[in-house]
Amino acid sequence: MEKRLLLDLSPEELAKELAARGQPSYRAEQIWDWVWRKLCLDFSAMTNLPLALREELSQRFFLDPFEVLARESDEEGTEKVLLALPDGASVEAVLIREEDRRTVCISTQVGCPVGCAFCATGQMGFVRNLSAGEIAAQVLYFARLLKAQGEHVTHVVVMGMGEPFLNYEATLKALNNLNDARGFGLGARRITVSTIGVVPGILRFAQEGRQYNLAISLHAPDDQLRGELVPLAARWPISQVLAAAEAYIAATARRVTFEYVLLRGVNDGLKHARALASLLRGKLAHVNLIPFNPAPGLPFERPDDGQIELFRRELLAQGIDVTVRRSKGVKIQAGCGQLRSRVLRGRCSSDEKSFEL
Ligand code: SF4
Repeated sequence: MEKRLLLDLSPEELAKELAARGQPSYRAEQIWDWVWRKLCLDFSAMTNLPLALREELSQRFFLDPFEVLARESDEEGTEKVLLALPDGASVEAVLIREEDRRTVCISTQVGCPVGCAFCATGQMGFVRNLSAGEIAAQVLYFARLLKAQGEHVTHVVVMGMGEPFLNYEATLKALNNLNDARGFGLGARRITVSTIGVVPGILRFAQEGRQYNLAISLHAPDDQLRGELVPLAARWPISQVLAAAEAYIAATARRVTFEYVLLRGVNDGLKHARALASLLRGKLAHVNLIPFNPAPGLPFERPDDGQIELFRRELLAQGIDVTVRRSKGVKIQAGCGQLRSRVLRGRCSSDEKSFEL
């Protein structure tokens, strides 16, 4: 019998599995506690379970889907891992330490079908969706690491490899499992899902009745430029994306973050700032500017600091709430997909290191 990843199950599915084997309902709660709260990776250590059940679980399930292929960290404590899955696929996850925050950035797909022109993952193409357990396990990986240091994960951002709303069910199941108070218990408002604007996904997300944060990557104020930078997004014109964002705001009363990567000479002019402002004026919205950091093989440059500040001020002057994502300047390539590209190319050189989150 092929073993299954236990993290793929919801609490209800786990209870059903155990009930089908004649186990009392509290066994599911005990196992959930071991896996999601105590972060246990070994069935034999679950000492409040009967030995026979522990053995049966270990024959039917596994708890850790990853082998660590590569790991990098910097002096600020940011850590990036490349994690191999049992079928040989691999994904990246990142831990960002900032003051009292411990944020884990996770992937939802192996590769990505969106093909953003400025993203290393986008250049790889799409391999497969991750399962709910494979998504959540990235958070648990860093949770174990932090636990050993007396710390814990405070935030999760779904901004790694892949488009979460093109793997909707698995992503939501993973987040709901992480949010479940009986186990990991990470507050919904500490979880952010970032989409390139998959309209059906945004509309569905609005109806979930959850308090997760939504970020939408716009990256351009008009459909033509957006289509060049974010090819798959051309399927959903900006007008539809904004209408879906309004529906999300109406359903949740929550602010939406619009992400905008700043590319020198491409989308960083004042005319772009004014056009962006006119799209968002009056909405419960916030703009997060992300100055691009150059990476090997990507034909873009970062605007200089003066231009970034001009862009920011223009948005502010137009009444738009705006922040600039801090450049951490760490000496690892933590931009999405870059570690994986480098390792798979077999050249882990230290001289191409720069990154921004
Ligand atoms: S930026 Fe995100 S959506 Fe775009 S290609 Fe990279 S992983 Fe996919």
